[in-house]
Amino acid sequence: MTGTTSTRTARPSRTVPLDAQCAAAIDLARAVAVESTDPDQVGDHLEAVAEDERVVTHYFACLAAGYRGWRWAVTVARASRARLVTVDEVVLLPGNEAILAPEWVPWSDRLRPGDLGAGDLLPTLADDLRLEPGYTGADEDLAHDGNQPPVLPYELGLDRIRVLSRYGIQDAAERWYAGEAGPDSPVARAAPAHCRSCGFLVAIGGSLGRMFGVCANEYSPSDGQVVAFDHGCGAHSEAVTGAPQAEPEPPIIDEFGYDELGGEAAVLLVARPQPEDERPD
Ligand code: SF4
Repeated sequence: MTGTTSTRTARPSRTVPLDAQCAAAIDLARAVAVESTDPDQVGDHLEAVAEDERVVTHYFACLAAGYRGWRWAVTVARASRARLVTVDEVVLLPGNEAILAPEWVPWSDRLRPGDLGAGDLLPTLADDLRLEPGYTGADEDLAHDGNQPPVLPYELGLDRIRVLSRYGIQDAAERWYAGEAGPDSPVARAAPAHCRSCGFLVAIGGSLGRMFGVCANEYSPSDGQVVAFDHGCGAHSEAVTGAPQAEPEPPIIDEFGYDELGGEAAVLLVARPQPEDERPD
């Protein structure tokens, strides 16, 4: 007999007759439910459901605060040709209107841009599609497609009327370096590594490109922003790699002295039959 919560909700698909002696054992079932908790938490008898031949579950309303819609389920059974009804288990089960916790969702599906805070670490998997080995030259000609000007002439300012002056470049560099994208922001101080070694850092051209790049990690607070090479955050591509996603353990059921019946979703524990010489007449 156990007195714990369980996720058992499914029942055998085949129709089995309701055993009259087990169905009549309401007082026995209630007494065991009360013994497992507090008398004030066991309410009206709701129904008796046949689980298998000579196996019946009695449901009682749960009156515990915070458990609206939950039901005490007491499963009773008797052996073949035996009149004695015994109790198999007592569990607290959610009814149709019970308030339940949401389904478990892997962290990678729960995570949203902006969730990462100072000091947090965000793992990247070895096969993360957003990352690839370093320079291959495959993207070298992309800037020549369509109407985009070739990279080198554009950086030299050949297609523009004016470009940043030396002062403008220095002013921007000092401002960026001293701001949130620099090495002294709280996020950077708590980071496990610098942007310089991060796979999400996109290089920019010109003299500013010797100190800064653009962060292209949607989970980073700096996504889409210019960051200093010695800035950093917990979403660094190599901070934590290949972290497996552990699934929650299944509920622990005490099977000592009991046989397990039922399918994948249903776990039913019944007492082993009594020996012949112990059976009542
Ligand atoms: S801010 Fe974080 S994710 Fe973005 S480039 Fe720097 S270390 Fe990488």
